[in-house]
Amino acid sequence: MAIEESEANSFHWLMDMLESVEVGLVVLDLDFRVEVWNGFMENHSGITASKIQGQVLFDVFPDIPKAWLTRKVDAVALLNTKAFTSWEQRPYLFQFRNTRPITGTEEYMFQNLTISPLSGTTGEVEKVCLMVYDVTDIASSKMALERANEQLAKLSMTDRLTGLLNRGTWENLVDAEFERFRRYGHTTSLVMFDIDHFKPVNDTHGHLAGDEVIKHTASVTRNAIRQSDSAGRYGGEEFGIVMPKTKLAEAKVLADKVRATVESKKLMRKSTNEDLGNITISIGVTEFKAGESVEQLIERADNYLYKSKQQGRNRVTSDENADVANAA
Ligand code: GH3
Ligand code: MG
Ligand code: MG
Repeated sequence: MAIEESEANSFHWLMDMLESVEVGLVVLDLDFRVEVWNGFMENHSGITASKIQGQVLFDVFPDIPKAWLTRKVDAVALLNTKAFTSWEQRPYLFQFRNTRPITGTEEYMFQNLTISPLSGTTGEVEKVCLMVYDVTDIASSKMALERANEQLAKLSMTDRLTGLLNRGTWENLVDAEFERFRRYGHTTSLVMFDIDHFKPVNDTHGHLAGDEVIKHTASVTRNAIRQSDSAGRYGGEEFGIVMPKTKLAEAKVLADKVRATVESKKLMRKSTNEDLGNITISIGVTEFKAGESVEQLIERADNYLYKSKQQGRNRVTSDENADVANAA
């Protein structure tokens, strides 16, 4: 009698532990009928054990990926081995709201899942046990770290003032496009431009006003170009745009659009409402040519830009009108 009593007691404690452990425990028969549903599952689903017992899991949770879980459970039963999936493969099996205060930004609980076979007295697998671990804290901090790393990588590639590619990144990109051009021969164009009479802006209104002009010009550029074009800040107030698979005529149109948009806007200093006047830019546009080097390519675009300056600024010089500009 005493032995039976102590056995009953330890069974009671065991059940208490299963009820209160911070892991979801679900026992299913091989037809996915729920036999055990512990306190963790009750708390997070709002469904009591007595309500779900005997029901098919998929009937109560229609969002659970049925084909996937069936395949997993079948393999566990057939091979009599455990299976494990992490939140990185599948964020969760049960869509529970995240209740952790520290990771309140995540909407749902991230879960790791273990599926264990449960054998009867004959040794045959008759049921499986799902163990659901709440790993929201780990998932959340790992994702935050990944986001921070991404941002860091982005920052080291872009120019702080304008958000455009910095010179090093942009030059690497031109090199890569040049290599592609050499291999596949896609027509590619290059645009270089420089803000006109920029020194007087700095001298009259100060360096910070000058910075605003640079930022504004960069933003006009960003909005004018296409997704496949890449703009970079080449120097203080000099910019470059590489346009893959773009003929000269098309590149000229885009370049002139940037020029006209910059010219059209009367600039006001944000902090003081000071009038900065109308800013203009001078542009050089050229196509990549076979047999030359990247240095020669950039030098040609820069020469065209210089010709635009000589010709009176606020204009586009390209392979087409460079000679005319020369003659003038
Ligand atoms: P031009 O029409 O011939 O281009 O005349 P410009 O006055 O614009 O002459 P230039 O292009 O040589 O002037 C560049 C000036 O830009 C010199 C430098 O002080 C200024 N500058 C370079 N980087 C920055 C920057 O980041 N911020 C500000 N505010 N000024 C810069
Ligand atoms: Mg300038
Ligand atoms: Mg300059």
